[in-house]
Amino acid sequence: MIIESDLKLDFKDVLIRPKRSTLQSRNDVDLNRTFKFLHSGREWTGFPLIAANMDVVGTMPVARALARFGAMTALHKHYPADALISFFQEEEVGNVFYSLGMTEADHDKFAAVKAKAPVDKVCLDVANGYTERFVDFVARVREENPDIVIMAGNVVTGDMTEALLLAGADIVKVGIGPGSVCTTRKMTGVGYPQLSAIIECADAAHGLKGQVCGDGGCTVPGDLSKAYGAGADFVMLGGMLAGHDECEGDIRYEDRDGKSVPVAMTFYGMSSDTAMRKYAGGVAHYRASEGKTVEVPYRGPIEGTMQEIAGGVRSMMTYIGATKLKEVPKRTTFVRVGAQLNTVFG
Ligand code: 5GP
Repeated sequence: MIIESDLKLDFKDVLIRPKRSTLQSRNDVDLNRTFKFLHSGREWTGFPLIAANMDVVGTMPVARALARFGAMTALHKHYPADALISFFQEEEVGNVFYSLGMTEADHDKFAAVKAKAPVDKVCLDVANGYTERFVDFVARVREENPDIVIMAGNVVTGDMTEALLLAGADIVKVGIGPGSVCTTRKMTGVGYPQLSAIIECADAAHGLKGQVCGDGGCTVPGDLSKAYGAGADFVMLGGMLAGHDECEGDIRYEDRDGKSVPVAMTFYGMSSDTAMRKYAGGVAHYRASEGKTVEVPYRGPIEGTMQEIAGGVRSMMTYIGATKLKEVPKRTTFVRVGAQLNTVFG
């Protein structure tokens, strides 16, 4: 048995120190990044935020709405092939990932969709990216699709980030256990503090000219700022994007002054009871660990939340004097803190 006693950090353990700058306003900063991907050689420019491939948020309407912000969406993998074919044929899909797990059924469905529609990005998603089988799977998908952007995960350490990049991934997804509806840490005791995971995996990936996507654990716009500061090239969000009109969750209505108004929406982990019941017998669940089912407040159109997130990140950039998102890690000094917020008013 080994005990690693280096301190590992989460978003809640740090703040970003302000720096002197000549920037005048939030409008002077650019949220877009341009990446040339390691294996596929493709280029992409946009706001590097990705809606998670979860039933409630990885939806086609979310994809359309986020594309307007230059942001991306990983569609959940439970859409039927026909719906995916029409979507990829009819929409501007430069900001959309097709998601698949390791089953043969997933593989066959992908082959059918790809034969008829232009899919150029895939998200290969398993709860535990540490198995040889997953590395082989990434290599197989790369061999069959030399020019498709492959994002693969999840892992939390530099060694495995390198292994996935060398197997053929362009982007490695980082995060085990930080998710808002994830119970992996509780059920298994396995995990890694997300800020440190991003710092370590980004360092490993950038050494090989690959990218990382920090996946899970962001609860407020400031957490995205910290993720970018830690070196995340992309940030994936589930819970922060749940509860909107473009999502696909059951809505709860309440009577207010004789009018029925939406107040809450369900949101659940992809290996929660809810997801398993929904797909039991059909698609095998791809998450080994458990997830939970919650109700989030109904928040109307997703545009408002996206504006808030983009506004928060822009403002962070003016505080540290970064004109471009790319400069953020270089201009980030994290300070360790004992407390983040003044909670006097709850
Ligand atoms: P959030 O932004 O909500 O904190 O985290 C979203 C991420 O949580 C997803 O992208 C995915 O990696 C992870 N996730 C989603 N569902 C489950 C689940 O049921 N169990 C676990 N362990 N993780 C999940």
